Amino acid sequence: MPELPEVETTRRKLLPLLRGKALLKILHQDPLRYRNTGEAEGKRVLDLERRGKFLLFALTEGKEMVVHLGMTGGFRKEKTPHARVEFVLEDGHLFFHDPRRFGRIWVVERGAYGEIPLLARLGPEPLGAFPFPPFYKALKGSRKPLKALFLEQRLAAGVGNIYADEALFRAGLNPLRPGQSLSEAEAFRLHQALRSVLEEAVALGGSTLSDKTYQQPDGVPGGFQARHAVYGRKGLPCPRCGGPILRLRVAGRGTHFCPRCQA
Ligand SMILES: [Zn+2]
Repeated sequence: MPELPEVETTRRKLLPLLRGKALLKILHQDPLRYRNTGEAEGKRVLDLERRGKFLLFALTEGKEMVVHLGMTGGFRKEKTPHARVEFVLEDGHLFFHDPRRFGRIWVVERGAYGEIPLLARLGPEPLGAFPFPPFYKALKGSRKPLKALFLEQRLAAGVGNIYADEALFRAGLNPLRPGQSLSEAEAFRLHQALRSVLEEAVALGGSTLSDKTYQQPDGVPGGFQARHAVYGRKGLPCPRCGGPILRLRVAGRGTHFCPRCQA
């Protein structure tokens, strides 16, 4: 699933293509997945921001188009067999491609996220101000495993399976540790590790896994997958100690870690 680095990369690539342009027509056949898109037709794109894994298109006349890429969604300049939505622009077309159809689009009045509860209750942006004291307090307030806490999106918005596993490896923390068991020094290491992993991943355009579903809008793959230390590396040697990487299910998701390096 696209996470913060993939969505941020998409944002950076789309903004210059769309800024100031009118969305003349938005064509699709699925009004339940792509809601109220008629309200965005004829409006211009003023800006494109990101919150967690959501893309927020600020439009003229006080409208906002919110897009969640789901498991396999992405924007493409070229039409694909899995193009679900076609955006007709003044100077061309843009497609929302989504083989598994978990992606969603909502058009709302700017900032009115009542229909999108997950967006309304996201935690802080880990590449924004991201102060340490509330992060530490949130960890200390929970008995849940660290991995589960990340997946809930309250500690930090936009972190999913890949980047939670990589940040926990970098911080040397076992994903099964309860949040409240962390010392302040360990929590600080995790806070730093999360930012460093995400910054590197954004700089490399995110991670394109072996299923190839995530691509940048111009069809270029991401580059961070080559830096994965644990994610998707079950049984392969840990880059730090050489021991085998383990995979467990935590909070229903495959979780990769080194039992020697992550205490
Ligand atoms: Zn190791």
